[in-house]
Amino acid sequence: MQNKENNIQFDHKENNIQFDRNHLWHPYTSTVDPLPCYEVESAKGAVIRLADGTELIDGMSSWWCVIHGYSHPVLVEAAKRQIDKMSHVMFGGFTHQPAVELGRILLDILPHEMQHIFYADSGSVATEVAMKMAVQAQNDVKRTDFATIRSGYHGDTWNAMSVCDPVTGMHSAFGDALPRRFFAPSPECRFGDEWDPADFQPMKQLLEQHADTLAAVILEPVVQGAGGMRFYHPQYLRELRKECSRLGIILIFDEIATGFGRTGKMFALEHAGVVPDIILMGKGITGGFMTFAAIATTAEIARRISESDAKCMMHGPTFMGNPLACAVAVASTRLLLDSPWQKRVKEIETILNERLAPARDFPNVADVRVLGAIGVIEVKDNINVGEFQKRCVEKGVWIRPFGKNAYIYPPFMAISDDQLHTLCDALLALVNPE
Ligand SMILES: *Cc1c(COP(=O)(O)O)cnc(C)c1O
Repeated sequence: MQNKENNIQFDHKENNIQFDRNHLWHPYTSTVDPLPCYEVESAKGAVIRLADGTELIDGMSSWWCVIHGYSHPVLVEAAKRQIDKMSHVMFGGFTHQPAVELGRILLDILPHEMQHIFYADSGSVATEVAMKMAVQAQNDVKRTDFATIRSGYHGDTWNAMSVCDPVTGMHSAFGDALPRRFFAPSPECRFGDEWDPADFQPMKQLLEQHADTLAAVILEPVVQGAGGMRFYHPQYLRELRKECSRLGIILIFDEIATGFGRTGKMFALEHAGVVPDIILMGKGITGGFMTFAAIATTAEIARRISESDAKCMMHGPTFMGNPLACAVAVASTRLLLDSPWQKRVKEIETILNERLAPARDFPNVADVRVLGAIGVIEVKDNINVGEFQKRCVEKGVWIRPFGKNAYIYPPFMAISDDQLHTLCDALLALVNPE
């Protein structure tokens, strides 16, 4: 009896979609009432092919990481070459060519003040590591609090969640389980608008008031992604840099979504010409090939951590510096550097600007904004994701909205103009109430 009941779980007559629906968790979904899910057979360039043969033009870069498109031969080759040597070896006591080579490339493209690199497994882990670094670096003064701005997103692990936007983030589900952080309002002054000094005042006050306990400020430079797809004025970051330096607060920039060319600069901090103390990289670092992240720090932060009571950085994951991920990250970053990526992002920005502008006249649209290879249509009411995606698939595109934001975030080195126009046509049709 017992066995027979258990056997239901391994009923091979269930097709893949049924099994998935009955047994697999997906991001932010219910097992009781899951969102619809489509089976992918393969993906190449900017096209995702479903098991039933349907082809979708990708407007998401698989949550913003696939910059060169899928199955890029250069990345595939780099992975294959590395697999033949070793896919993994511990980083405790060992180093290897891919880790060293990636370190060299990253330090080359980062601001020259960055001198030390910590390799981590994913973006959320990078956030955890950076927050631990800040606390360790402030060991002498025993500062352990964090401040950030609203509408931010830094990942789904415990401390990362605690600095995500308290409303659009996950605070309500975890309540008192989350450590308390200080939140300033998110900047109102938009990218490209005239700077309004009043915009920084709430953050300035917050920092002054809590300087004694604040270890660090963490935020996404210029583009706030999953917390609302907002583009704010770079001057905010210059003001923040000044205040943090004056008050001895460490400044952490989360470039996990913005790094590697997405906004038209290699890193979004270049829009502001500001250098933080710690920089987080993830998502596009392997060209979206596999999970990996890196944290860069200045020499001073590294020295302070190394002179703290612990005398070392207290973090060391099993897969730290994974050779396979490093080899792919080297190949992806080289490929980007050898390509006319700035020109291409600019062209995409121009097309998105032109094509999405008509949505401003739709009665249900609150805002249309474009920066680099990101085009956002913000509507007035929350979007039904399941319904929206069904219509996307019917139109042969892949766009996954969140909250009130329907946006295009294409694999910018793979997408053609024609494919981009198709994405824009589809997005306009999907948000147009008529
Ligand atoms: C996606 C993201 C993270 C989390 O990265 P994961 O790899 O999903 O853990 C952190 N910060 C920002 C800005 C992100 O966009």
